[in-house]
Amino acid sequence: MALDRFGRKIHYLRISLTDHCNLRCIYCMPEDQTFRPNAELMQDDEIFLFARLFADLGFDKIRLTGGEPTVRANIVEIVRGIASTPGIRNISMTTNGLLLPRLAKPLAEAGLQRVNVSIDTLDPEKFKRLTRWGKLEQVWEGILAAEAAGITPVKLNAVVVKGYNEEDVIDLAAVTLDRPWQLRFIEMMPFAGVTDVQTQQIVTAAQIQAKIESEFGPLEADNRYDGEARIFRIRGAQGEIGFISSVTVPFCSACTRARLTADGVLRMCLLREKEIDLLTPLRNGASLEELRQMILDAVWNKPWGHGLDEGYIPLNRAMNQIGG
Ligand code: SAM
Ligand code: SF4
Repeated sequence: MALDRFGRKIHYLRISLTDHCNLRCIYCMPEDQTFRPNAELMQDDEIFLFARLFADLGFDKIRLTGGEPTVRANIVEIVRGIASTPGIRNISMTTNGLLLPRLAKPLAEAGLQRVNVSIDTLDPEKFKRLTRWGKLEQVWEGILAAEAAGITPVKLNAVVVKGYNEEDVIDLAAVTLDRPWQLRFIEMMPFAGVTDVQTQQIVTAAQIQAKIESEFGPLEADNRYDGEARIFRIRGAQGEIGFISSVTVPFCSACTRARLTADGVLRMCLLREKEIDLLTPLRNGASLEELRQMILDAVWNKPWGHGLDEGYIPLNRAMNQIGG
């Protein structure tokens, strides 16, 4: 079991498969973002080796992310390889959903258990504005394809941005009335690339909740967290509403995560710049034991939490270069 110096058991690894993406969401990256050449990204066998190493250290849960994980070549085989790694009990993915209409079934057959699909509005024009060119109906088709493939319960992620979609939280919340889905509203966090938007146009979880309650009345608290999301329900609804308030109400004390970026760097806190390069030592011939020790040291030194309330903003990578 990998413990940090505060006694947190770190057992959840988010692996970014690529920094590339088929969208350019305005809160994630600038429109002219450049991407890493493929040779700089972890190759499939390197991903499998890291998955085995982390699993040997007690990591049992892996989420694939990016960039957009589904644009990665061999995505189905990557899921199959990770899902069959001894010790990995839970494998999920965060995706924009565009490619799920054709990939949901093969991914499910390869072992993918859960999917979070990002959808920030149900208005096609606003969706296009937020993603710079995305087609909403393709994402919706992707969500239905995931459900049909049995990758359930479906969870939807919505980032709320002032001036773009703060009114849309009502229609999004209404989706849970007759569908057993979880709609998770995420407070925008600041990184490099589009820091101005992220800091100046944030809508807090409390503001989002107030907007939803102005339409549906007081939400019923479930008094539990699902991952980092505090769970609520509209009275009588089939689905759930979650609030991820990383900025205003951080959940650092309960954090069990580590992140492996697409270029093979271990980042122990999403919102801290400190990183430990694992891929370069691997390519330079480090032994498995040496890599294992590097991971254990990094886990032990996991930062207590982020420093957003002290004005600290991590600026060494944009969100798509870390993996959300
Ligand atoms: N491309 C996939 C997607 O959009 O779902 C996976 C990667 S994306 C970086 C992962 C999640 O991070 C998405 O739900 C996205 O909305 C969210 N995200 C991106 N930028 C963010 C930011 N600045 N603050 C909070 N969440 C953000
Ligand atoms: Fe791409 Fe996801 Fe970032 Fe949007 S949030 S630009 S879909 S990586």
